[in-house]
Amino acid sequence: MVKIGVLALQGAISEHVLSIEACGAKAILVKSKDDLNLVDGLILPGGESTTMRKLIDHYDLLVPLQQFASEEKPMFGTCAGLILLAKKLVGYDAAHIGVLNATVERNSFGRQVDSFETSLVVKDIATDFPAVFIRAPHIVEVGPGIEILATHEDRIVMAKQGHILGCSFHPELTADHRIAAYFTDMVKESLAKKASV
Ligand code: GLN
Repeated sequence: MVKIGVLALQGAISEHVLSIEACGAKAILVKSKDDLNLVDGLILPGGESTTMRKLIDHYDLLVPLQQFASEEKPMFGTCAGLILLAKKLVGYDAAHIGVLNATVERNSFGRQVDSFETSLVVKDIATDFPAVFIRAPHIVEVGPGIEILATHEDRIVMAKQGHILGCSFHPELTADHRIAAYFTDMVKESLAKKASV
């Protein structure tokens, strides 16, 4: 059974666990480097990116997370997780994990509409995905090698760069598991690729 980790420092952790299990994969909570070594792919959940970064540093996980990405193991950042993965952040000098070739802006849908749900067209996945946005970031600019998978009101809200996937919204908060299934397939493919080398 394919093993998918959920970075379990802060945020919407249990919802991702349910959604991974609904896709027939084993979910593992990742809180340490040893936990990270057990998993074939990793989800970085939504929550609060500044708090998560503090905890990443506290548990000495920054370099292991960067190494996980450099080993071509799939990573999926949702909302705050997308912020953690981005190479550049609007208004900040430094990025966090910095492996997704994109510039991301935090809290970019305005304070009046802190949270909303909308139906999204997601390339290769859905024409009607129920997407929940909560103080969501968006992707301002993508670099080479990035494929845009979804936009909302002309803003990029989901993108993929090889084994790295990121979205602005919370796909784990509804019973629609198509995006989780897509990521599970990415993890399976990466394992199959490694086995064939
Ligand atoms: N606004 C949060 C941040 O900047 C992200 C919100 C979320 O993950 N729902 O980290």
